[in-house]
Amino acid sequence: MFHSTNYNSPNVNFKEAILKGQAPDKGLYMLNKINTLEQEQIFSFRNLSLHQIGIIVLSNIIGKTIPKKEFEKIVKKALNFDAPVKSITKNDFICYLDKGPTCSFKDFGARTLARMLQYFLEKENKNIIILTATSGDTGGAVAQAFYEMNRIKVVVLFPKNEISKLQRKQMTTLGKNITAIGIKGKFDDCQRYVKKAFADGELSHLRLSSANSINFGRLLPQTLYYFWGYSRIVEKKGEKVIFSVPSGNFGNLMGGLIAYNMGLPVKRFIAAVNENDEFPKFLTTGTYEKVEPSKNCISNAMNVGHPSNLARLIDLFDGQIDETGTIHKKPNMEQMRKTIVSYSISDQETKETIKNFYNKYQGILEPHGAVGWSALLYYRKEHPDETEFKSITFETADPAKFPDEIIELINITPEIPGSLKKIQNREEIPNPVEIANYNEFKTFLLKNF
Ligand SMILES: *Cc1c(COP(=O)(O)O)cnc(C)c1O
Repeated sequence: MFHSTNYNSPNVNFKEAILKGQAPDKGLYMLNKINTLEQEQIFSFRNLSLHQIGIIVLSNIIGKTIPKKEFEKIVKKALNFDAPVKSITKNDFICYLDKGPTCSFKDFGARTLARMLQYFLEKENKNIIILTATSGDTGGAVAQAFYEMNRIKVVVLFPKNEISKLQRKQMTTLGKNITAIGIKGKFDDCQRYVKKAFADGELSHLRLSSANSINFGRLLPQTLYYFWGYSRIVEKKGEKVIFSVPSGNFGNLMGGLIAYNMGLPVKRFIAAVNENDEFPKFLTTGTYEKVEPSKNCISNAMNVGHPSNLARLIDLFDGQIDETGTIHKKPNMEQMRKTIVSYSISDQETKETIKNFYNKYQGILEPHGAVGWSALLYYRKEHPDETEFKSITFETADPAKFPDEIIELINITPEIPGSLKKIQNREEIPNPVEIANYNEFKTFLLKNF
């Protein structure tokens, strides 16, 4: 069962949690209790494939809500790509989460969520509409993941003049059940319209839901690659590993923390953030202050000044914070500091990391992964007594999505993966409507759905 992090809504089961997306009291749904796995079993993952591990780990959370046979089909179809783990130094590894159809780690969550929702809706003979605001990457992953799901329609709002052409094409070339609207405004405006729509009683008959990482269904599949990465590198049962996680809305890190609570042996999590440093400051001082407005960094999917998943993170450490950023109950800071360290990496450092990494290892990092790697280097420097522990840094996007930065820094044009090439050549569907304020958005929804 799931409770709301605001503790002002009834508990719900997994199905309701993902169909609703957000709790009615504006809190996020979080597990009441996390079932653990045996250490023996976790160690035996060494001999299993990504799907096999996925089915065990995810079933451990959702129980029998989806019958085993059906669930196996969902996981196999959703996660039909690899997550290679490469050794960079003797004890430092990178796990590449960018091999899905939109070359973003968000493919893990979005593709699994889409199929789980479709399954529940089919059984109940119902339909829903997913509203998503995007600053670039989420919209593409969600649009591609939900494409042609017959019980789900998707409306994506994106800031027309602030995303790359390739990012836009991932949303605007699909059609069918996907409507992508470029608005004159910023990401914050998109998010405002979407949040307002969720709370608008006159739209409740439309059955709106969310595919952002406020939806628990997005986090669930993200526990998997922690077990997967771990299983590829450990040699002893119970061996502890360090994870460096590029973080924005902290959905990625939450996946790891849930895995940890399921028994995954972790030495430390490194929450690697860009210049939006509200979390490392909070960890040090115990006082939380949003970064408002958020800072524009080259790792643009991490430009978040008030991470929504902080509500779940603080809940996990016995505290409570609401959606506005007010802390109602202080979490166990000591425990949190033992589990997580956090570093803020400037754009300058991110760029230097991309350059140095290329010169040293001939590999190409993109800005998000570079923030993760840079934070790992800080951690290694500050913990010389922990050299025997292995580390995994997650690379969350493909460098080809950021060609300008890569060319400028290392003078190499990153090779475009096949999935992105296909999209480059597709025709776009023109903007269905000009939206300049919330009322125009609402009118559009009422008229078309
Ligand atoms: C969304 C995103 C992140 C940050 O993940 P969160 O779950 O929001 O912390 C990092 N890198 C890339 C490429 C992303 O798209």
